[in-house]
Amino acid sequence: METYDIIFIGSGHNALITAAYMTRAGRSVLVLEKNDRPGGYLRTEEVTLPGFKHDVYAAAHPLFLTGPAYVDLGKDLEARGLTYVNTDLPTGVSMEDGRTAVLPRSLEALRAEAERLAPGDGPALARMFEDLHPYVNEVFSLFHCDLATPAAAAVIARLMGAPPFAALLFSTARHVVSLFHSPVMRAMLAPWVMHLGRTPDDIGSGIWVPLTALALMGGGMPTPAGGSERLAQALAQLIVDQGGVIHTHTLVQHIIVDNGRAVGVRTADGHQFRAAQAVVACTTPDHLYLSLLAETAIDPALRQQAAHFRYGRGCVQIHLALSEPPRWPDARFHTVGQPHLTDGLDGCILAVAQGRADLLPVKPTFTVDCSTNLDPTRAPAGQAILRVQVLEVPIRPRGDAAGQIEVGDGTWTHDLTERFTERVLEVVRTHMPNIPSAVLGHHVITPDAIAQFNPNAGPGDPYGGAHDLAQSYTLRPLPSQPSHQTPVPNLYMLGAATWPGHGIHGGSGYIVAQKLLAAGGADTTERQGKNTTRAHARA
Ligand SMILES: Cc1cc2nc3c(=O)[nH]c(=O)nc-3n(C[C@H](O)[C@H](O)[C@H](O)COP(=O)(O)OP(=O)(O)OC[C@H]3O[C@@H](n4cnc5c(N)ncnc54)[C@H](O)[C@@H]3O)c2cc1C
Repeated sequence: METYDIIFIGSGHNALITAAYMTRAGRSVLVLEKNDRPGGYLRTEEVTLPGFKHDVYAAAHPLFLTGPAYVDLGKDLEARGLTYVNTDLPTGVSMEDGRTAVLPRSLEALRAEAERLAPGDGPALARMFEDLHPYVNEVFSLFHCDLATPAAAAVIARLMGAPPFAALLFSTARHVVSLFHSPVMRAMLAPWVMHLGRTPDDIGSGIWVPLTALALMGGGMPTPAGGSERLAQALAQLIVDQGGVIHTHTLVQHIIVDNGRAVGVRTADGHQFRAAQAVVACTTPDHLYLSLLAETAIDPALRQQAAHFRYGRGCVQIHLALSEPPRWPDARFHTVGQPHLTDGLDGCILAVAQGRADLLPVKPTFTVDCSTNLDPTRAPAGQAILRVQVLEVPIRPRGDAAGQIEVGDGTWTHDLTERFTERVLEVVRTHMPNIPSAVLGHHVITPDAIAQFNPNAGPGDPYGGAHDLAQSYTLRPLPSQPSHQTPVPNLYMLGAATWPGHGIHGGSGYIVAQKLLAAGGADTTERQGKNTTRAHARA
């Protein structure tokens, strides 16, 4: 049986980041991925027409670029072709009535924009950041820690002991933005919590308003030149160059546990691989405890929690190939990263409520991003691509809030997908008059497509599990497992289902790498020498 120090189940970017750290430290590593290429949701493909390179799933990586993994690995990734294009206007908003705003990275410019929208909103913005200021460094430090460690627990206790912080933590995004007079400012800031798996009326969403604004101001809206998949390619190349092995088309079905310790995995095609130091699962806890560890004795309470792991609502992502760049409602949007199109915060909240009732929303609030704004190589000369990301859509709609679209049994059939796409593009048209006339081709990612692509999506959730308060922070992935370390010795978890949750930031990949490095060298006596030097990706 082939033996490696560390075996990874799944090749999401968090797993690849840990694998890059471990191969750099001289450990032998095997990454097993069920899909045809490593990288999980990092995929760039010509899904509409030849020459139009779309980020099929994730596109922007602001948190990765400002995180510690990029500090440590950035140079090596750049040496393997990764470069980012970025903007000084990460986001903005276009209102149905024609009003617009942008969020510049400079605090001074953002204050001026707030003041332009409504006198008094500049100081209100400064107050929002000042309220968080005493806590912000400790809060951001937690993004790179396992929250179950004593060091993190001490920070959390300090933060929660400060009543203003605790009040902010339990507030809603709608409440936080109510300090602005301008409905445009409110509509620019609050809907961003949806990208974090929260909605503007969720208890616990409030703190994410200033945190997201700060993160965007710090990171911008970077995306790899050539497409999001360049990050996965650079990580995979780094792992292979450092002696790691990546097998694709390989579904892991079983974690082998011997004497209570994780010692290897078995794949769907019957191969077994042995892990001398650790097995690292880039999975959700239900997949882990109910399927991969189905034959292992696990605390029944933990297994029951895993059975009740909750998924969030769905995402419909529409990719457009355009004959010309979008006609933006505001000239500044020619360099904006990801603006929301909306009829206002109340409209956004109404659409969310419709989604929550498993109804197709009548008029959703969503982002659009045009990668060719910053990277014209992504489309033929003079042409453009556009990504429309509609969140909080029912995974399996039971009806249409407008009473116009027949949803059948809720399966995202071609007809349902096309009719909902038409509805969304009708909203886009009110903001960008050359849509849909400039559309040459389109490709739509539905909740069903997401579920089929990635087992970590459960029934089709893009967040790797709901991010409500009861499944966040020290309760993620499960209340009885508030850590990346599982109760099975040698078995670790990372990825969107673990703290700090979903998004391309590499947070859990960094955390698990630090744990494995701290755990010291592996017992390599069993290792087969040939595996330590083998460096290839099996296609
Ligand atoms: C449509 C969409 C758009 C998004 N847009 C953005 C964005 O613009 N910016 C952003 O920051 N985030 C975005 N996200 C979220 C982001 O992509 C995810 O949170 C992130 O990719 C999660 O990374 P991960 O490391 O958990 O692994 P994932 O990307 O979830 O990958 C997990 C991998 O593990 C594999 N796997 C799982 N189980 C097994 C098994 N048993 N055997 C073998 N392989 C297995 C899967 O096939 C998959 O390839 C988007 C998500 C979606 C769905």
